[in-house]
Amino acid sequence: DAPPPQAAALLERRQRHFARPQKNYYRNPPEIERGWKEHLFDVEGRAYLDMVNNVTIVGHGHPRLSAAVGRQWSLLNTNSRFHYAAVAEFSERIAALAPEGLDTVFLVNSGSEANDLAIRLAWAHSGARTMLSLLEAYHGWTVASDAVSTSIADNPQALTTRPDWVHPVVSPNTYRGPYRGQGSTGDYVGAVTTKLKELDEKGESLAGFICEAVYGNAGGIPLPPGYLEAVYQMVRARGGICIADEVQVGYGRLGHHFWGFEEQGVVPDVITVAKGMGNGHPLGAVITRREIADALEKEGYFFSSSGGSPVSSVVGLTVLDILHDEALQENARTVGDHLRDRLQALAQRFPIVGAVHGMGLYLGVEFVRDRETLEPATEETAAICDRLLDLGVIMQPTGDHLNVLKIKPPLCLSRESADFFADMLARVLEEGW
Ligand code: PMP
Repeated sequence: DAPPPQAAALLERRQRHFARPQKNYYRNPPEIERGWKEHLFDVEGRAYLDMVNNVTIVGHGHPRLSAAVGRQWSLLNTNSRFHYAAVAEFSERIAALAPEGLDTVFLVNSGSEANDLAIRLAWAHSGARTMLSLLEAYHGWTVASDAVSTSIADNPQALTTRPDWVHPVVSPNTYRGPYRGQGSTGDYVGAVTTKLKELDEKGESLAGFICEAVYGNAGGIPLPPGYLEAVYQMVRARGGICIADEVQVGYGRLGHHFWGFEEQGVVPDVITVAKGMGNGHPLGAVITRREIADALEKEGYFFSSSGGSPVSSVVGLTVLDILHDEALQENARTVGDHLRDRLQALAQRFPIVGAVHGMGLYLGVEFVRDRETLEPATEETAAICDRLLDLGVIMQPTGDHLNVLKIKPPLCLSRESADFFADMLARVLEEGW
């Protein structure tokens, strides 16, 4: 299946100068020209349902967003050291979304930057260096955010190349981790206790703990009940701060909650957010308490040229307005629950469907060769994604074994589109898995 000549030629041009570690989706990717809501269109005019785009939460080509951006670009765009209304208004709106007490905002340009800054805040506030993280997590590409990332799907060397200030603990994957099911909280908390005891014995004080409040890499597996409450308590008892990486799971995607940490009934000390908050425009934020933010002043001023720029702030404000006016969190809940039911029904029919994870429009279908051994169906997952592309659905694998479908579409996904996806997946599974 050679790609159309025009797409092949463009791919070759991309590969000539675009650094190779920057991977693209698919061996023969369609050349995408245009987007509308949850749909993408290639240069031949073929439509695809975009089921993986966790960035474009209000949908592709949103006219209200492009109008607001165009207006602001033609008026003013500059750095946040100037005085203008949008940055004040956006900071206020972001702070209002967070739990009480988390009223102070840094505006940056990506999730990696937000997590890097969060780690620096932990260092500055605690005076310590040691960070606790979860295995298999991904938090970004900058030096500090990469250091706490151990997803081997993103970096096969991750486990052997962490700096000595990073201490990853076992990921509480209740489906295929060492402890299984909802009753595994005590075992996973016990693993953290053991790690903290080791650090205590070495006299290492703790700067903080970073994790996603819903386990993202594996397709949105909720943490076992009470896990974060127990871990946050132990971290805080040692003077560390608790960082919730909400880059993927926050901002209404879970449908039932605006933030992932609400799922665990906890309040973090620092929230990091990006991706959807800019709908694809580079935008990220760190939300924290005033005294934690102020700790950074020991290191001088913080300045990000485009973080909180007039255009970025207007993008952020408009995304929030659209989320509200189009009730997209509510849509994530109703359409997401419906889709989950449809996928669960597939699990009854096809043994390869080991589990359906997640909630709202943050779902994962995990494929296994054997429901007892949970042997990951990695090659099958890649083939299923390729076949879905033939049928007009963009879908990619996730997880350390790349055996989980990464279902994170724009939050405007219609019920009809959800049904189309479930129908196409059923058709692919009927064909041979
Ligand atoms: N945290 C999580 C949970 C992410 O999924 C990602 C991106 N995949 C990041 C941080 C990094 O965000 P960015 O790509 O915007 O730097």
